[in-house]
Amino acid sequence: MKNEFEQLFELSIDMLSIVDYNGVFLRVNEAWANTLGYAVDEIIGQHYERFVYSGDLEFTQHIAEEFATSKQQIQFENRYVNKDGGVRWLSWTAIRNDELQRIFCVTRDVTEAKQTQLQLLLRNQAIEASPTSVVIADLRAPDMPLIYVNPAFERITGYSADEAIGRNCRFLQGDDRDQPGIIAIRAAIKERRAVTVVLRNYRKDGRMFYNELNVAPIYNDGVVTHYVGIASDVTKRVLAEEKVQSQNQELVIANYHLAMAQQNAQMASEQIQQQNAALLQANEELAQARREAEQATRLKSQFLATISHELRTPLNAIIGYTEIQLAGMTGELNEEQHDYQERVLVNAEHLLRLINDILDISKIESGRLDILHHPFYLRHWLDEVVAQTKGLAEAKSLNFIVSLDERLPNILVGDEARIKQVVINLLSNAIKFTDGGFVKLLVRKHGADAWRLMVEDSGIGIPSHMQETIFEEFRQVDSSSQRKQGGTGLGLSIVRKLTLMMGGNVRVQSQLGHGSTFTVVLPLDEPSTQEREAFVKGQSDD
Ligand code: ADP
Repeated sequence: MKNEFEQLFELSIDMLSIVDYNGVFLRVNEAWANTLGYAVDEIIGQHYERFVYSGDLEFTQHIAEEFATSKQQIQFENRYVNKDGGVRWLSWTAIRNDELQRIFCVTRDVTEAKQTQLQLLLRNQAIEASPTSVVIADLRAPDMPLIYVNPAFERITGYSADEAIGRNCRFLQGDDRDQPGIIAIRAAIKERRAVTVVLRNYRKDGRMFYNELNVAPIYNDGVVTHYVGIASDVTKRVLAEEKVQSQNQELVIANYHLAMAQQNAQMASEQIQQQNAALLQANEELAQARREAEQATRLKSQFLATISHELRTPLNAIIGYTEIQLAGMTGELNEEQHDYQERVLVNAEHLLRLINDILDISKIESGRLDILHHPFYLRHWLDEVVAQTKGLAEAKSLNFIVSLDERLPNILVGDEARIKQVVINLLSNAIKFTDGGFVKLLVRKHGADAWRLMVEDSGIGIPSHMQETIFEEFRQVDSSSQRKQGGTGLGLSIVRKLTLMMGGNVRVQSQLGHGSTFTVVLPLDEPSTQEREAFVKGQSDD
């Protein structure tokens, strides 16, 4: 029958052993054997060194020596190797009995505790080394104070652990309390769940940073006791996002403007189309009006041509019979009768000129006047012009000067009569508006392909503002009824129209009170050899 101590020895879940002073196991209990996987007999009689992990052997020997020489009781930890090669951490309490020369040992397998401890150490180190801020708040204490902050927290916020621990972490928000993230955290804590939010937090120096914070509950036996917060500074990311967002917004606005611009452009284009249509319509109406006006002008001109012809016939009769009477062919007229008849003649001739002018104008306007292209002798043409005008000039005692450029060919091609009409018109005006001095007709070569007719006078001149308008129909410098000189106001208009029809032009230079010079430039058209020969032959046959 085992004694009480024997029974206790066997029952103990702690490892119990008795070792002699040489270090040899004399007794071990079942717990001992089980922990290392041996049978009790395999241990008894063995030296402890056989089981010690090689890395701890030196340390263990040192302890044993120290124990043997000085201490009565000792506590230490070392590692043993079990039967299948695994290593176990053992925690020893040994007591020496010098009387019995025995060592009594109580040993515990602390492998699990050691491992947990190690892991805790590692985790702690990891948290301490982590670049993200880690904090732990105690949910059980009033106002949930921080009980731990890691160095990253200190770095990011600028607050030391001493300054932070014991305070609720809301001090990081400063006065900026009204943030959606804070409401979300409160709700999550209330419901004991985890949440991730971005908060505007403030460093100790007052600078704002965006803090992305994940808070998660820590359960202990099914009860939340702490909250752990993991946070990182995401200022750069948030600013970048904000920038992208504002750029997006700008883009949206730009798009809107673009759309508006397109709409405007569309509207403008529609308006332009409408205006174009209106313009087209207006053009069409204008063209119609012009056709109608042209038609009206043609009809007017035709009417004038007809009426002029009808007027000319009786007028020629009046002139004819008056001349007969003035010539005394119907008997001698007394002075008074002669005087009256002369007035009849002058007025009738004036009327005839007027009618002829109107006829010419209307012919030109209705396009019924043709310009001829026939050869003529220039000298002969000039002689006729002089014959018709010289008398008028001499009647007013004017110096009548005519000069012909020798370089001009003797035969030209053109409308001899119309050129004559142009020059006679200009000469009649020159004589009419000159009371003393001279009237000149200069016929000159003008460049290689033209010739010019210059009618110069020392008469009353034309004010500069009238120098263009006198070429218009019925325009006269003095249109009052008291004007000295008679006239229709059609002469210069005919001159210009004829000149243009002949491919030339006319202009005037004048100085009021000193005289005027009208210059007509016409293209120089010479006959071909054949034309010339035919013309010369025809002339000599006459
Ligand atoms: P009119 O029958 O009145 O002479 P014209 O058409 O020949 O009509 O001339 C128009 C006007 O031009 C004249 O009334 C006159 O006022 C002015 N004019 C024409 N030639 C001369 C000139 N040589 N000297 C001054 N005025 C002139």
